[in-house]
Amino acid sequence: MPERRSDERFLALVLILAALAWSTGCGVTTQSGQPAGESGVGLSGQTAAGASSSTVSPSSSQGAQTATPTPTSGDSSTSVLPAPGATTIPPVVSSPTAPSSTGSPTPGAAADNVVIVSIDGMRPDALAQATAPNLKALISSGCSTMEGKTTNPSLTLPSHTSMLTGVGPARHGMTENSWSSGEAVVSVKTVFEVAHSAGMSTGFVVSKDKLRFLDKPGTIDTVEVVSQNASMVADKAVSTIQQKRPRLLFVHFTELDSVGHSQGWMSAAQIESVTQVDRAVGVILGGLDTAGIRARTAVIVNADHGGQGTGHGSTDAQDMTIPWIAAGSGIRKGQKVSRSVTIYDTAATALFLLGTQPPDDWDGSPISEIVGQSAADMQLLSSLSN
Ligand SMILES: [Zn+2]
Repeated sequence: MPERRSDERFLALVLILAALAWSTGCGVTTQSGQPAGESGVGLSGQTAAGASSSTVSPSSSQGAQTATPTPTSGDSSTSVLPAPGATTIPPVVSSPTAPSSTGSPTPGAAADNVVIVSIDGMRPDALAQATAPNLKALISSGCSTMEGKTTNPSLTLPSHTSMLTGVGPARHGMTENSWSSGEAVVSVKTVFEVAHSAGMSTGFVVSKDKLRFLDKPGTIDTVEVVSQNASMVADKAVSTIQQKRPRLLFVHFTELDSVGHSQGWMSAAQIESVTQVDRAVGVILGGLDTAGIRARTAVIVNADHGGQGTGHGSTDAQDMTIPWIAAGSGIRKGQKVSRSVTIYDTAATALFLLGTQPPDDWDGSPISEIVGQSAADMQLLSSLSN
């Protein structure tokens, strides 16, 4: 019924304007935990957090900043529908006393926070074969494709640069797979740079030092290099979430790639590595829970490349095909992504979920079909009201 639809949109617009007016004066709490319609989708498959406390070292770029999500009211995507077997997600209440130095969430945005997870070298069929309850729960509770494509060359540094800059190697210029401290950093705009310019705090927890090529000064508030196992990376990610509350957090796990180079892609050892990383992803999801921000957080999981034998880097499908998964705040439940996905769509989609427009000249574009209808309506109305 078009007329009723119009009325609903008008009501939503009024709610947005009311929320905008309200949020300028005080903190806003949001309720979650009740079943939602098509838009509200919860993360599932969490494990007990079990994260040990760890010290966060000072940022390598600049003083750390924190942001406190203050979700706007009237957004139906704040509701959460737990997936089967998922632990009940408690209501999220933003703390009125927590620091809020980097701005409020964008009204109508699908999510207040986004975590991008990169599982280095994970082929879709490795994920399929592995015991990986957390990652598989993200698939069932979100949107995914097992036919994503990475860049040529299918190498860690060129591919991650595309993942986090929204452009291919021809644009960002990084075609080598090595970088050392002191060398020039990325020159094109990064997803952190765009988010930071929009007033958001950003975080970066990686297990390969060369990824600091993406640490352009003044764009990432918290940078951590954890050259250890997935469990240690997850603990550092959780402490970063707890202490810094980055609105955009990138987490990188190196295990599968290391084992692939030493024992082979699709070896039993590499499949076991998927399980280890899966546990670590569960720890991060638990950390989001403990921080009280999971219901308003979207998680994107992808890989930089696949592999075969003991290497990767070619244009062969086994090297080029990657999984791409998104789940959480505002994201549709249990759907396959129908459009083609390339690794540089990750950056554009993260910004889209946060309610920020990606640069027009990016090669990547937001995978907007993953956003629930109500959240998409809110984003449309929000843009109209600006
Ligand atoms: Zn890699």
